[in-house]
Amino acid sequence: MSAPANDPSPPKGRHFLRLEIERDLESGIYAQRRFAGSPGDAQHHAAAPIDPARIRTRFPPEPNGYLHVGHAKSVCLNFGLAADYGGVCHLRFDDTNPEKEEQEYVDAIIEMVHWLGWSWDANGTSHLYYASDYFDFMYRAAEHLIERGLAYVDEQTAEAMRATRGDFGTPGTASPFRERSAQDNLLRFREMRSGVHADGAMVLRAKIDMASPNINLRDPTLYRIKRATHHNTGDRWCIYPMYTYAHPIEDALENITHSICTLEFEDQRPFYDWLLERLAEGGLLQRPLPRQIEFGRLNLTYVITSKRKLKQLVDERHVQGWDDPRMPTLAGMRRRGYTPASIRKMAEDTGASKTNIWVDYSVLDIALRDDLEGQASRAMAVIDPLKLRLINWAEVFGGAATEACQAPVHPHHADRGVRRFSLGPELWIERDDFAEVPPKGFFRLFPPKTLPDGSVVPGNKVRLKYGVVVECTGCEKDASGAVAAVLARVVPDTKSGTPGADAVKVKGTITWVGAHEALPAELRLYDRLFTEEQPDAAGRDFLSVLNPDSKRVVQGWLEPSLAGAKRDDTLQFERHGYFVADRIDHRAERPVFNRITGLKDTWSK
Ligand code: ATP
Ligand code: MG
Repeated sequence: MSAPANDPSPPKGRHFLRLEIERDLESGIYAQRRFAGSPGDAQHHAAAPIDPARIRTRFPPEPNGYLHVGHAKSVCLNFGLAADYGGVCHLRFDDTNPEKEEQEYVDAIIEMVHWLGWSWDANGTSHLYYASDYFDFMYRAAEHLIERGLAYVDEQTAEAMRATRGDFGTPGTASPFRERSAQDNLLRFREMRSGVHADGAMVLRAKIDMASPNINLRDPTLYRIKRATHHNTGDRWCIYPMYTYAHPIEDALENITHSICTLEFEDQRPFYDWLLERLAEGGLLQRPLPRQIEFGRLNLTYVITSKRKLKQLVDERHVQGWDDPRMPTLAGMRRRGYTPASIRKMAEDTGASKTNIWVDYSVLDIALRDDLEGQASRAMAVIDPLKLRLINWAEVFGGAATEACQAPVHPHHADRGVRRFSLGPELWIERDDFAEVPPKGFFRLFPPKTLPDGSVVPGNKVRLKYGVVVECTGCEKDASGAVAAVLARVVPDTKSGTPGADAVKVKGTITWVGAHEALPAELRLYDRLFTEEQPDAAGRDFLSVLNPDSKRVVQGWLEPSLAGAKRDDTLQFERHGYFVADRIDHRAERPVFNRITGLKDTWSK
């Protein structure tokens, strides 16, 4: 949410990016920038009013895949900093590479940045931009560089260019085309543009320094020939700018003040500055120029955040699509039931630093549970069902078929009302709430036991949550010897909420659903996708550490209050954890719930 200009909310948890921005605000370096209300060159902004945004940041995804949790970090940093300092954050599609980019990804990215809770509307303008809209300017800037002898067309083969670039210890050697006249270069470059030359026949390179210790300054490529239909500009261009050339220009045209990117771009910063300086000097770009600042990538344990590897998981069908609830894509996390607030909180809590960090997954999981705890309605569900038969039902409840019970929708929000359900002679309970031979310390249902001296230890008593106390009297088995039903008797006068109900003390309380009214449901029990904390570290094949039990599907029973559950409704199934009605497959007549996370942290060691 970009806050209104001139009304910055007080900054939260301090990290170096905040300090840098605060220093720039204090120095007033960006205070006199003009902004014409839309991106443009120096002339476009020159006569415009002072920029109402105190800073401008941007989130610049390449629309070649779905956003993942690492991108969420960048989204929250950029939009969050803008909001906190009275600035504006732009959503910019870095769509300069025609081959891999698609409208489908553009739409999905817009949807997910909105879902996270951010907006690029500010001062009556939508700051949603496409780098491909700047192709004309980029081309003009390239001709400008050529005219000033700062760029040349190189006709060497790609291999020759690679071979003459040198390496860390060896300076590069000049291309035979390096000293061509500006006029010849201009002619050639225009030929490149008009489609005279084949793909890859030549490139435009900056003329900087083939001996620079920074290899990125050894005459980097600015433009290449590529005949490909672009999702925005169609077949208008057959030359396309390189990312390293395009990105600084995009920032400058949009009046970005702080161009925040991940550490791998640190070595590109000298070129970023070189290029913008040259173009500002030539009067093409307004000053002050944007500043690139790098921060460490976010890596979450048990998660992969590489688009390429995520694509491989989808393509090879290790998961069921980009929005598979086990995927760390925002589409997958939304379907899994993660809340935007929990992702924003994780981004805030992990700050920003100058090194790539591994963050324990529990940081996200704890933020998620904190958020869900306060909101999610409660319900009872049985995940691994076993029948419980109340053998003295008729004695205790007479002719009544059922006995009404109720429970709060949320224990801390009385205003949210109560859920109603009922006891009956047959109930579903969890299979592991019964043990024929109880292990030590087991307080749930177990049958009576005859001791060697002939005396009988009675079966154990538990409370059926919101219901009555029952005492186990035995069990029934099927032909294979497996327990088919548990038998118990109701202890009279123990109904929850009635006077004296607590007179009978029990050590265990179990959840249940009445068999007469239980709703059958498909429950998808998700677990971490990888068994190792750093699935792709040190060159490991991440496929070798896929968790074979990352998805388990069971048929369970739900309490009847869930009959009205809608897709995306989030609930706490008491004792089990948080679940969400699947946003694709859930139907009233065929409920499908995904387990979001358990009630307790199982991630941190
Ligand atoms: P990938 O490596 O997964 O393909 P990318 O960086 O190439 O990601 P972009 O679409 O270019 O994908 O990313 C948009 C922005 O998100 C960039 O500014 C990038 O630096 C940032 N970003 C991507 N991954 C992370 C991460 N793990 N942590 C922080 N920022 C990230
Ligand atoms: Mg990238």
